[in-house]
Amino acid sequence: MSREAYDHGYTRSTRHHRPAGGDCAAPELDKLAELVRGAGSVVALTGAGISVPSGIPDFRSPGSGLWEKVDPMAVAHIEAFRADPVRFWRFYGERFATLEGKLPNGAHQALVALEHGGLLDGVITQNVDMLHRKAGTRELVEVHGSIARCQCLGCGGSLPLGEARARLARATDGVPRCEACHHPLKPGVVLFGELLPEAVLERAQQLCAGADLLLCIASSLEVFPVAGLPLLTEAAGGEIAILTQGPTPLDGLARVRLSGDVVDELQALACAVGM
Ligand SMILES: [Zn+2]
Repeated sequence: MSREAYDHGYTRSTRHHRPAGGDCAAPELDKLAELVRGAGSVVALTGAGISVPSGIPDFRSPGSGLWEKVDPMAVAHIEAFRADPVRFWRFYGERFATLEGKLPNGAHQALVALEHGGLLDGVITQNVDMLHRKAGTRELVEVHGSIARCQCLGCGGSLPLGEARARLARATDGVPRCEACHHPLKPGVVLFGELLPEAVLERAQQLCAGADLLLCIASSLEVFPVAGLPLLTEAAGGEIAILTQGPTPLDGLARVRLSGDVVDELQALACAVGM
């Protein structure tokens, strides 16, 4: 996103100075800013909710489209991909279309500002939409992969999203295929039924275990193994802050709990710590 767009959001947050959600959020925000300033290592863990202001629906929110019409476990499952790639791509092509052209929002940008200011060591995300990347996050761990590339499970080849989209558009049966071996291509995301890549999960675990403060942002913290990451921070003596609308199973562990607008809250935090 352009500097201009970030500046716009920044000005908005400076003007209001406090996040939406009323005065009760202010002491929590002050406490969070103090924790960030005092921590040697701060790490963010983000979920689907951070991309909602960019126009990407969270499939768990009622009435939000794509995933409501299908059972993701039945369609976006590795066995469903293997058994019926035509059906899989009928669904996943729609997901590609939903994600096309989407831009990072002020919440992504606030995390970039914290990282550039030396106050954030990295972002671990469950999202596959590439928005943290587009925003400019440098230390990024995409635990569920991303749509940036598609893979061939036949020969191990891979190709970038743009080429995969072009093949999808050209495919007579709606299935983009590998040019070398003609196997159907698979999006570079972790499907249901697949394990998270070991090295990626290890990096996420390492960051969380080393964090003095873990910011859990816009995630319901219900999907394992990611949902277990805050417990590593807690076990190592670090603090957990949860900035998420709706309850999470880890609310009882949170030193700070915010549940307002994610863009307002993160921009207010960045502002409060001088970014
Ligand atoms: Zn191949």
